[in-house]
Amino acid sequence: MEDVDVVVAGAGVVGIAVARALAQAGRDVLVLDAAEGIGTGTSSRNSEVIHAGIYYPKGSLMARFCVEGRRMLYAFCAERGVAHTNCGKLIVATSLAENEMLAGIKARAEANGVEGMRLLSAAEAQAMEPNLACTAALLSPTTGVVDSHAYMLALQGEAEHAGAMFVFHSPISGGRVTDAGIELDVGGAEPIALRCKLFINSAGLAAPALARSITGIPRQLIPQGYYAKGNYFTLTGKSPFSRLIYPVPVPGGLGVHLTIDLGGQARFGPDVEWIEPSADGSLDYAVNPARCDSFYDAVRRYWPDLRDGALQPGYAGIRPKIVPKGAPGQDFVIQGSTVHAIPSLVNLFGIESPGLTAGIAIAAHVAEMVAG
Ligand SMILES: Cc1cc2nc3c(=O)[nH]c(=O)nc-3n(C[C@H](O)[C@H](O)[C@H](O)COP(=O)(O)OP(=O)(O)OC[C@H]3O[C@@H](n4cnc5c(N)ncnc54)[C@H](O)[C@@H]3O)c2cc1C
Repeated sequence: MEDVDVVVAGAGVVGIAVARALAQAGRDVLVLDAAEGIGTGTSSRNSEVIHAGIYYPKGSLMARFCVEGRRMLYAFCAERGVAHTNCGKLIVATSLAENEMLAGIKARAEANGVEGMRLLSAAEAQAMEPNLACTAALLSPTTGVVDSHAYMLALQGEAEHAGAMFVFHSPISGGRVTDAGIELDVGGAEPIALRCKLFINSAGLAAPALARSITGIPRQLIPQGYYAKGNYFTLTGKSPFSRLIYPVPVPGGLGVHLTIDLGGQARFGPDVEWIEPSADGSLDYAVNPARCDSFYDAVRRYWPDLRDGALQPGYAGIRPKIVPKGAPGQDFVIQGSTVHAIPSLVNLFGIESPGLTAGIAIAAHVAEMVAG
């Protein structure tokens, strides 16, 4: 049995950011990932949007870490030369009933500390985005887009500079809570058993299953994992908009919105498709082209010029849900010893959007939880 100080399970954006924060605080950190490199999970299957922090309930971890994390992320990217843009976003109403919802969205954003939100008339919005059809809009000037891989590489570089080690092809298959820390069984080409003083479970979609594979973690505190796939369709040709365009949210989702990557490629989505893993536990990331049909009507409400056949299947990501379809939204769940009474364990469950934006703030929070 080898002894290590800290093991972080998962080299997605959150695991890397936590490893960086703990290494910079003087801990000896080993990051283990089952995959062949960093960010192969949800961290590279998302919209890459730097979210402002608009929709989350006031006082939630999502609201707090999104707003704090967004400010930290812009500063991080500016200082390290990570490609990003602060392009802004428009939330667009397409009926008088929706016009009335914009003021409520603005008030919620402001309660969360989001800066600069501004209601626009249809004419003002169309002056900014001539291809837009709308009856009114809400401008979010702090929304942006980041190159998620460059961001993760920069975080990894700083974690390694502070002494963290990353080891890939190293799935954690189980373990035990003991008085001396947590023992972990690590598979791969050369299976090994490790004992760590602190274990951070940042395994994304697999975090609930990983927690369940470790004996001694109270079962009633481990949520059931659910999978809500989000499919994207890309637009052939040039983006008709220079800002991100979101409809007024629909119950259960943000509606079919347009995001633009740093290469100028426009894509619509993600939609919501609840899925089950297949018999061998794998998840299907293929985009079913038939899902495209529902996108055309939704998009034409705010962009009537969308041509038939202009959308192509893109890619998909899967939201690490911890509540089933139809249940009210769930906040991030970050469990330390005050919850489970195990000083050597932090579990991160349900780190869905805005996890990319919030990563550095989540990491600072975890580092504070385990300090001392
Ligand atoms: C469709 C979609 C769109 C999104 N859009 C945005 C957005 O625009 N902006 C935003 O801020 N957020 C967005 N998000 C959320 C964001 O992508 C996630 O919150 C974030 O990437 C989660 O990172 P993570 O490190 O927790 O998980 P992951 O990136 O999934 O990393 C988990 C890692 O754990 C590893 N792992 C799993 N099990 C084990 C094991 N047993 N042993 C070792 N390693 C293991 C996996 O290989 C993986 O690398 C979106 C999410 C989805 C699904």
